[in-house]
Amino acid sequence: MEPILQIENLTHTYSAGTPFQRSAVEGLSLTVGKGEFLGIIGHTGSGKSTLIQHLNGLLQPTSGRILLEGKDIWAEPKKIRDVRFKVGLVFQYPEYQLFEETVYKDIAFGPKNMGLDSGEIDRRVRDAAAFVGLDAELLDKSPFELSGGQKRRVAIAGVIAMEPKVLVLDEPTAGLDPQGRDAILAQIQAYHRAKGAAVVLVSHSMEEIARNVECIAVLSDGRVLMQGTPEQVFARAHELEQVGLDVPQVTKVAAALRARGLDIDPAVYTVEALEQRLLALRGGAGAC
Ligand code: ADP
Ligand code: MG
Repeated sequence: MEPILQIENLTHTYSAGTPFQRSAVEGLSLTVGKGEFLGIIGHTGSGKSTLIQHLNGLLQPTSGRILLEGKDIWAEPKKIRDVRFKVGLVFQYPEYQLFEETVYKDIAFGPKNMGLDSGEIDRRVRDAAAFVGLDAELLDKSPFELSGGQKRRVAIAGVIAMEPKVLVLDEPTAGLDPQGRDAILAQIQAYHRAKGAAVVLVSHSMEEIARNVECIAVLSDGRVLMQGTPEQVFARAHELEQVGLDVPQVTKVAAALRARGLDIDPAVYTVEALEQRLLALRGGAGAC
């Protein structure tokens, strides 16, 4: 897969030269392919937020480079704004950053900064609102009249409206109920498929990552501990547990069945896949 973002040997040290000096990310290398859906998972403090704030130039590397379409994003510091239009970053709890009088203006803020004309801005605002499941009638309301889940959607729509080539989301489902989570993840999937954009989804939930991504990077202590497909990663349950991460519930069930002598792939990670495996054992897969 052709890369869109390359993180090369990235180190980020907070409070360098003080007694509080701490490297949150250390010598980390990772590639995001064009149109890829990548999940980044790691325990709290493993460096996820620090890493992704480098992807659009919000943080500058202490050492190492970030290449966007093959070009160092800091080669011309004055052009970092353009990088922010191409790599859209949705912070954790983004609803705290809404500030305009109306939902419409909030979503339009990014496209306006890009210097687009009002017709194009309008198209993008309506498109982005539809992607995140916001009714058009909410566009004229104040963001502060909305529910928490709706505010979160407005914030995500504001980034989607820039139509970034890479959409980066830092724990976008944190604090939502299970239905709200599934809805937002489905909307992100829809955006990914419709626009062919790469998505980098940060999460601390294995279940969430398992169900949504093609490739997983596991962070531990500011480094990439492993990277692979969900099957490859969940097959290393023991190592995951050592860094405080859990495999999905279904993977545990599969492992337990295997321990009792059933011939089941230990890397199965969705309920549907486990069901298929069990039906196959019964000789009933695909039968009506
Ligand atoms: P995660 O998102 O995986 O929880 P973070 O990137 O937020 O990880 O944090 C990685 C490490 O860097 C943690 O030890 C955290 O305390 C530290 N850290 C994060 N932000 C700052 C900051 N602004 N100043 C100093 N240390 C920080
Ligand atoms: Mg974080």
